Amino acid sequence: MTSLVIQTAFLGDVVLTTPLLVALATRHGPVDVVTTPAAASLVETHPAVRRVVPYDKRGGDRGWAGLRDLGRRLRAEGYERAYLPHRSLRTAALAILARIPVRIGFHDGWPFFYTEVRRHPAEGHEVDRLLALAEEPSAAYAPSLHPTAEDERAAAAFLAGAGIGEGARFVAIAPGSIWGTKRWPHYRALARRLAGVPVVVVGGPEDAGLGEEIVGAVNACGKLTLRQSAALIGRAEVLVTNDSAPLHIATAMGTPIVAVFGPTLPEFGFGPLRSGDVALGVDGLACRPCSRHGPPRCPLGHHRCMRDLAPDVVATAIEEARALRRRD
Ligand code: SF4
Repeated sequence: MTSLVIQTAFLGDVVLTTPLLVALATRHGPVDVVTTPAAASLVETHPAVRRVVPYDKRGGDRGWAGLRDLGRRLRAEGYERAYLPHRSLRTAALAILARIPVRIGFHDGWPFFYTEVRRHPAEGHEVDRLLALAEEPSAAYAPSLHPTAEDERAAAAFLAGAGIGEGARFVAIAPGSIWGTKRWPHYRALARRLAGVPVVVVGGPEDAGLGEEIVGAVNACGKLTLRQSAALIGRAEVLVTNDSAPLHIATAMGTPIVAVFGPTLPEFGFGPLRSGDVALGVDGLACRPCSRHGPPRCPLGHHRCMRDLAPDVVATAIEEARALRRRD
């Protein structure tokens, strides 16, 4: 009987849930996944996934009626058990509406609605915390994504069109974030500092303006699908990113990472996972960190957690990551 995983959090959270999907697929066979329309395309090609059910909780499926309709559709599938990594009331309610007899969730979610409650670790990387839902040791599983051969071809064709041929080295930059204070303001200066190295800016259509500001870079924002963007990131020598979804996509694609942290800390559990990757931030700032997610605007007005991180520091980390990669 197929298991269902309901994960409708942000894109990065869905990528960090892929180790849990693999662990569950190893135990029960490929799982079905309810996730956001944005994340659906990213996991629908994953071998641990049998079927993806998009849930547009802010659009076509919004409100009680949308939740009830989806619950009815899921009920028809006769799922035996549901894993609920997202600790929202909506997620718990959906599993109940789908009449799934075994509902496994975390103690700090809505335990009254679960039939099996797992302790949610307060510490550690988010990958490990999510794997606790399956009571699995973390070391065996890492985030993974599977762009198709067609996605790879599209990424290669885009790069070739920008003068970056097959196998050519380039640095990818992901300057966007939903949260304003997580956006490092010096990417333009960084690109200037990297003169001579091809730079490709990745992101969604909403990041296209940020991409235009980075003079001399190839702007891929909004020009590729999410999986094609993952394929492009997989071809980069290194990805430079804020504390946002592209960081986790690069982890899943095996691309070295230089990550810039401002109002948040890697210790929150969303930093790079591999030992060679780099997380940079401003030390000794009394206000840092100031929130779990990063506020839209700096409450103190100066945004020093990001502004004080100099482009030279980031450029040096990129050069070191590139040198390491060349030695591999
Ligand atoms: S209060 Fe401090 S940590 Fe928060 S956004 Fe402002 S400078 Fe950054």
